[in-house]
Amino acid sequence: MNAKAMRQLVARYRVEDGKGFSLADHDPADTGGLNLKKSEAAALLREGIERLARDQDMLYAQDRWAVLCLFQAMDAAGKDSAIKHVFSGVNPQGCHVASFKAPGPVELDHDFLWRHVAALPARGQIGIHNRSWYEEVLVVRVHPELLERQKLPPRLITARIWEERLEDIAAFERYLARQGVVLLKFFLHVSKEEQRKRFLKRIEQPEKNWKFEARDVAERRHWDAYQAAYEAAIRATAAPHAPWFVVPADHKWFTRLIVAGALAQALEGLDLHYPVVSEEARAALERARVELG
Ligand code: ATP
Ligand code: MG
Repeated sequence: MNAKAMRQLVARYRVEDGKGFSLADHDPADTGGLNLKKSEAAALLREGIERLARDQDMLYAQDRWAVLCLFQAMDAAGKDSAIKHVFSGVNPQGCHVASFKAPGPVELDHDFLWRHVAALPARGQIGIHNRSWYEEVLVVRVHPELLERQKLPPRLITARIWEERLEDIAAFERYLARQGVVLLKFFLHVSKEEQRKRFLKRIEQPEKNWKFEARDVAERRHWDAYQAAYEAAIRATAAPHAPWFVVPADHKWFTRLIVAGALAQALEGLDLHYPVVSEEARAALERARVELG
């Protein structure tokens, strides 16, 4: 597949204007008309991974932009495996993964962005956030009892709290963009039926048992509330400087392809190059060569 075709494919899933966004328009089983064999999909992904490795090297050397990929999804949508595959070729020295679980007592004593800010990538680095500040308008919205544990002064908990949080998130993301943090937000969109099959596999295959959590099955009862919360979040926060990628997730090979493609394109757009060596530095290199013989 050439670069132009890949760009067009990724563009189908990119949302940078949330107005009128509806999840119903996005089919979790979509494969963009591609019908690839496993080996073909793997070869295509490998190409993407190699490109990513080359660009990452320049990102690191240039030390100007930071890149943050955040992943949100229902359980078993494939966040972990997308991260494992797409980033398999990057230099660990220039990359950092942070997974966000339910906040503990220290975290609950701070504003909700506190722990996320602490995990932001430095310039030259790629950050991968497995869950993110969006949990604050997803799981917390679906389970309001979590909000009660957040120790907010009661008068700040109003009927507008979700709207306010989404506003704050959008403002924070604009700030990040203005600081040179390139943000890519991936929602791995899996269907309820595919999730059911994956949970069953976790029960049936002994090597997958460790991944199974009864709590995840209980969470399925809130499926529609989660979908509504995701839709509201994407509507309120999709922007050209902070795009969402609503990635079909019923076919894992396709999910990985789109995530790798989106990332490769974002890096290409940064005009990355190795730092130009000054005349002075070149002369110093020459002197060093002479000394080394
Ligand atoms: P996996 O199940 O694939 O290992 P995971 O991301 O689901 O990965 P878990 O440890 O199972 O990891 O779950 C983390 C849990 O923490 C999720 O249920 C998530 O909703 C919850 N969580 C994350 N952030 C918050 C938050 N700010 N407030 C409350 N719960 C949160
Ligand atoms: Mg889980």
